[in-house]
Amino acid sequence: MTFATLGLIEPLLRSLETLGYQTPTPVQAQAIPAVLAGRDLMAAAQTGTGKTAGFALPLLQLLAMEGPKVTANSVRALILVPTRELAEQVHEAVRQYAENLPLSTYAVYGGVSINPQMMKLRKGVDLLVATPGRLLDLFRQNALKFNQLQTLVLDEADRMLDLGFSEELGNIYKALPKKRQTLLFSATFSDAIRTLAGQMLNDPLSIEVSPRNVAANTVKQWVVTVDKKRKPELFVHLLRKGKWKQVLVFAKTRNGVDALVEKLQGLGINADGIHGDKPQATRQRALDRFKASEVQILVATDVAARGLDIEDLPLVVNFDLPIVAEDYIHRIGRTGRAGNTGQAISLVCADEVNLLSAIETLTRQTLPRQMEHDFEPEHRVPDTDASGQVVKKPKKPKKPKTSSGGKRNLGKWVESGDASAPEPSIKPVRKVPVFNTGPRKRKP
Ligand code: AMP
Repeated sequence: MTFATLGLIEPLLRSLETLGYQTPTPVQAQAIPAVLAGRDLMAAAQTGTGKTAGFALPLLQLLAMEGPKVTANSVRALILVPTRELAEQVHEAVRQYAENLPLSTYAVYGGVSINPQMMKLRKGVDLLVATPGRLLDLFRQNALKFNQLQTLVLDEADRMLDLGFSEELGNIYKALPKKRQTLLFSATFSDAIRTLAGQMLNDPLSIEVSPRNVAANTVKQWVVTVDKKRKPELFVHLLRKGKWKQVLVFAKTRNGVDALVEKLQGLGINADGIHGDKPQATRQRALDRFKASEVQILVATDVAARGLDIEDLPLVVNFDLPIVAEDYIHRIGRTGRAGNTGQAISLVCADEVNLLSAIETLTRQTLPRQMEHDFEPEHRVPDTDASGQVVKKPKKPKKPKTSSGGKRNLGKWVESGDASAPEPSIKPVRKVPVFNTGPRKRKP
């Protein structure tokens, strides 16, 4: 199968040739003809599967072939994304795909001055990428009209709900024309997402290119158990032992990010951090330098967990486990992308056993455990497995027999896409109300 057989027009085919895309990925093969045919879409796609091109290519084609010229302050297609970084990234991909088409594209997001965005929107934009909060600000200040809107894309919809954007989504939804095409993309599908889909989509085609709630099977995952206070020391030890060259590290809090970056820099290690408190320009610069391998270790909160496309990233370390189990899938989805292999290591202390259990239940796998010599925890992490059971029975820490440590699942990687993995009942980790009116959750 080729992009031409999917019905894409020549200017897009030329862009794809420049980018070196030869064969459509599975999500592209399914999404492109359906979007071209005008269908609504509900797509579950793993991160790194090429979903951006899956919706952007046909969308650009429809904009180029159909509909009126865009008028002042209007948009004809809107792509909503959860974070500023993702907005930049999706817009960059769209810009490359649209290189040979006479279409205008733009991205708006918070954390930067609104005035240049208002100026830019004056002439109207064919395709706008936006985060929900800034989009509503612009709409309320009459810088944006939706009367010409023909297509809405919700990208990383689950993440938008997790970040507390349900109220904004509800308000945006009310402002949009009822007659439109809607495409909903999400790596994970919770009940809240299905409710959202029920409200926003019209007879959608369901696309599922991977089993529900599993990470890419190109990522090898394991856990190293350790006492909480020794995590920084263990991280430095593993970094030196493994001669890690480029690592994306996830910490739970902004303070946690800053503390780890400070420790690493204090040891002369080339590290930087990104989180919600940092200005957008600083975040983007740190990310760009990390992508260019000018920074060796990038420590981030979950704000960086989704959508970021870092070429050939070999390793993700969960310095802390995420509070929301689904974030684990997104975090480790930063590696093992576009067919490459990757590794994901989680440093887990006894306090985090319930988070570990939730992740194992969600991903239907028991993560192999290791202990590192001299870092065996005093507070043992109780046994867990994919059934959601936590065995609380305290045991004395055992000295590992070999360098690979621990007694469970030794020497066997769990491939997360393993179809032979037992099928547990999936417990929702946290229910997120759709279109609630409560206060916005704090961003990570
Ligand atoms: P995405 O899942 O949209 O973030 O895409 C992941 C990566 O795969 C990006 O670097 C894309 O440029 C790349 N990509 C997407 N589709 C293809 C394709 N058909 N062939 C080669 N690379 C692709």
